[in-house]
Amino acid sequence: MPSNSLLYFITQIINFPGFKATNYHFITENELLIELENKQTSATCPHCGKSTSKVHQSHRHRVRDIPVSSFDVFLNVNRRQFRCPNCQKVFSEELSFVKKRRTYTKRLAQKVVEEVLATDVVNTGKRNRMSPAEIETILKEMEAVSIDLWVPYKSVVEELMPNAQVVADRFHVMKQVNEELDYRRKTEKKQAEKIKNKTERERQISGIKESKYPLLKKKEDLNETEKSKLSVLKEVMPELMDMYDRKEKFRDIFESQITGDEAFWQLVEWTESSYKDFPKSCQTIKRWIAEILAYFDNRTTQGAVEGINQKIKLIKRRAYGLNNFANFRRRVLLNWHFSPNLS
Ligand SMILES: [Zn+2]
Repeated sequence: MPSNSLLYFITQIINFPGFKATNYHFITENELLIELENKQTSATCPHCGKSTSKVHQSHRHRVRDIPVSSFDVFLNVNRRQFRCPNCQKVFSEELSFVKKRRTYTKRLAQKVVEEVLATDVVNTGKRNRMSPAEIETILKEMEAVSIDLWVPYKSVVEELMPNAQVVADRFHVMKQVNEELDYRRKTEKKQAEKIKNKTERERQISGIKESKYPLLKKKEDLNETEKSKLSVLKEVMPELMDMYDRKEKFRDIFESQITGDEAFWQLVEWTESSYKDFPKSCQTIKRWIAEILAYFDNRTTQGAVEGINQKIKLIKRRAYGLNNFANFRRRVLLNWHFSPNLS
């Protein structure tokens, strides 16, 4: 038996809180097997919540862990089965570092995914002495975790990009803002027509009449007639003109020479103050925020689409070793989850 101080040292190296190394040996000249024991002698019954130390059976099994130096490390783990004296049910203990029925530790899975994303499946397999099938199992499992953490980008991948081209287009977003403004104009006009007081009704109708095109135009493109039209409208329907001002503010954001980061904060501010009047536009902005910000960083609509395409190409290249669409999709998901700023 190895000395206690050596076992203590191995326990420290392996570093799974609550577990200690009880023995070790070399399987081959570069494979190390370490036996691990849970220091706790009792476990909590998941059925009734009572604690018990009555071991029913022990299941030793081998799981692979991250390497130490040049050694591949395997752990001989004892997953004990307890029989609860209170409810008589049998249960096996949870181990924090390895999932049930898995042959690798959680931290090894994490390492493999990171390596696949940084290089590709074939090279990761070689470096870790794993088959592509083993790596694929790990990737599949991580995908499930990624999808949950991935809500803001999920829609992008679900529709796998072709739509991003349309929606991230600044003119497309601008169009939606204009549509909401125009919809409000129509609603206000209908409201005005229902006013009982004749003088007030006529004042409002004449104020809003023929305002459609001035409202949709850029401030700097307005001629004198249109300008005075809008200043009359402002007296009659200040809220509608406030929407016009925010529409123009939105255009300013897109036309100013700012980075994606700066645009992000301006758009956050805009959506916060405009949600009530431009609900659809705000939803679109939130849904496509990644693509819209890519537009700012790439300056042109075409550039934003190109940025996304480049990213996909890079993922495809790294996917070397994975050959079907499901795998490709999984990689896109993982890639965005692990490195959202990759470009
Ligand atoms: Zn129980």
